[in-house]
Amino acid sequence: MEHAHTSRIQEFIGDPVSDSPVISRGKMEEIFQDIQADIRFDHELNGCLNCGICTATCPAAHYYDFSPREIVQLLWTENLEGIYDAMQEKIWACAQCYTCAARCPFENSPGGLIMLMREAAIKHGMESAKNVLRPFSRVMLKLISTGNQLSPDMINADGFPDWGPNISKIKAPLEVLRKAIPMPTLNTTATAWEVNLTTSIELYTIWEETGVLDQLETIDENLYDVILDIMDEKREDLADWEDEQS
Ligand code: SF4
Ligand code: SF4
Repeated sequence: MEHAHTSRIQEFIGDPVSDSPVISRGKMEEIFQDIQADIRFDHELNGCLNCGICTATCPAAHYYDFSPREIVQLLWTENLEGIYDAMQEKIWACAQCYTCAARCPFENSPGGLIMLMREAAIKHGMESAKNVLRPFSRVMLKLISTGNQLSPDMINADGFPDWGPNISKIKAPLEVLRKAIPMPTLNTTATAWEVNLTTSIELYTIWEETGVLDQLETIDENLYDVILDIMDEKREDLADWEDEQS
């Protein structure tokens, strides 16, 4: 293999065998600038001693090939290649517990910085973000269509295969039990509680205005289309209800 350059600056992250570029340096700069431009960045990164206290107290570091110290060092030294590389897998190991932020002598928040990197990964439609978020599409659909993440009727073997045989313990007559709850908004098993139509529409507006829906489109276009249809329907329902009242 030819080593023509002695500079430490890589033009692209490439496969060392094929030399084919995976991503240009310009794109890496763009991703880093998005992370750095966030208003939280300067609050969450004040310097780094490389002391490793954050990693020593990090639960995720005990189980995965992951170190908050390493992530903070990559950001602090503006190591674009390393940042991009960490966004392919490592940033998704963080449990967002913020133990690191409570311990860091520089008052950094490694967990907060990782959140910024995750948001950038979503914004740039990275495969790592799509892979991590794919299993949550069912929850997202439920949340947008009903205002709740989970409902009693989801607690079954199909809904939670990862519970294994324990799911068979959920054999309670939920329909009857829910009807016995004095609050009428809880008398259903289709949602955790019934969300007022006006509240749902207000939530849609917040998701639109804050760019949440744009991010969803980047990650899962089909889910985005389904959710837009649901939102249109609910807005029509609200308009009909308001007409009836007037
Ligand atoms: S982020 Fe804080 S705790 Fe972690 S290595 Fe840097 S200075 Fe130490
Ligand atoms: S927030 Fe993330 S990086 Fe920080 S201690 Fe928790 S799991 Fe580790």
